[in-house]
Amino acid sequence: MTVTLRFLGAAGTVTGSKYLVEHDGHSLLVDCGLFQGYKQLRLRNRDPLPVMPNHIHAVLLTHAHLDHSGYLPLLAKEGFRGKVWSTPATRDLAQILLPDSGHIQEADADFANRHGFSKHAPALPLYTEDDARQSLKLIRTVPMGKAFEPIKGWTAHFFGAGHILGAASLLLEVGGRRIVFSGDLGRPDDALMLPPERAPAADAVVCESTYGDREHPVEDVLAELGPSLKRCAARGGTAVVPAFAVGRAQALLHAIAELKARHELPRDLPIYLDSPMAIHSTGLFSRHIGEHRLDAAQCQAMESVAKMTRTADESKAIAMQHGPKVIISASGMATGGRVLHHLARYLPDHRNMVLLTGYQAPGTRGATLASGGTQLRMHGQDIPVRAEVVQLTSASAHADSNQLMAWLQALPSAPHRVFVTHGDPEASDRLRYRIEHELNWRALVPEHGSMWSI
Ligand SMILES: [Zn+2]
Repeated sequence: MTVTLRFLGAAGTVTGSKYLVEHDGHSLLVDCGLFQGYKQLRLRNRDPLPVMPNHIHAVLLTHAHLDHSGYLPLLAKEGFRGKVWSTPATRDLAQILLPDSGHIQEADADFANRHGFSKHAPALPLYTEDDARQSLKLIRTVPMGKAFEPIKGWTAHFFGAGHILGAASLLLEVGGRRIVFSGDLGRPDDALMLPPERAPAADAVVCESTYGDREHPVEDVLAELGPSLKRCAARGGTAVVPAFAVGRAQALLHAIAELKARHELPRDLPIYLDSPMAIHSTGLFSRHIGEHRLDAAQCQAMESVAKMTRTADESKAIAMQHGPKVIISASGMATGGRVLHHLARYLPDHRNMVLLTGYQAPGTRGATLASGGTQLRMHGQDIPVRAEVVQLTSASAHADSNQLMAWLQALPSAPHRVFVTHGDPEASDRLRYRIEHELNWRALVPEHGSMWSI
């Protein structure tokens, strides 16, 4: 009886992770992600899956990012009734991210209907906040390293991927075959997350390739962040830091706590964390001690270094606070969220600063700022950009090309085949080339929808 693997997402692109494993009339999905980014990709979220959701027996989630988990509410809405397996921290993050995703889908559909630019009348959300909350009930948690049986006779276990809190790689054993899924791999030298664990031997490996064609510069976040914030504070300015709510915001808080402890930043410099999702995610670090590099005291320092502004009124009140300060707020690319009203207020004054902390996708306000734009369109107005714009080369949450190669090379034996996924075409093909030429293993970049027997 053969084991087959079908690539229903993250093949030739970074988002939409969904791998269907089938054997002897049973099937499960490894990851259940949304396609994100360009419109032709997002439209794939509306295509029916090649199998009926109620014929899928289980879902195994490697981590909570929406491009790995965000399709789950739709799968459940369309009839999936199996169990969803994840680590406890992934479940905790999914409880924050999935309802928010549903809320955004509803708001987008509502906006399209009010402005009449939907081709369908009326525009319908992919799923609602309530659908997302319903789907969370299907999640069963299993600790890292503990074997479980998602389908009778199929065994699996998660092991650390070091990417974000709860993120795992996965070994699946079925029909005498062993398949390793890398999930998203973090970098071994991350300030918050533990290094990815060594993978066990397998017949097939599905490996991500987000940075398959790039090396991260050697960097020191403290050395980059400290002098910029100090310079801004010294001239009485406010630093606005657009940051991703899960991962990046916590890395910044941890770095700022360190800088204050080392007296490299004034102890009384007010720091605000102005994002409800980021506040929730920050609290999870102390609930998951041992799953990241911080001890209880460091979690405490990270949480107490900033004033957490939960309500919209508290957020607006930040503007009443005169003198130097730092405001960390979402979204990371200034595409929406509370950070917009801070940018509108602080961009026109040259004493202020905008600190960009991660990848800025083309077309976003973050990209306009990064490329030296002199004005920024927000809420129907053009805001002049006079504040200093600083871009951190920023710790990425993904392993680079050499780190991916090192993770593969640490496998106890050569797999029959490596499937290179979760990358733009150039990045995936570069990693495939390196695997074939440096390791002499068989590697390929599967096409979207293709099916392979293992
Ligand atoms: Zn991820």
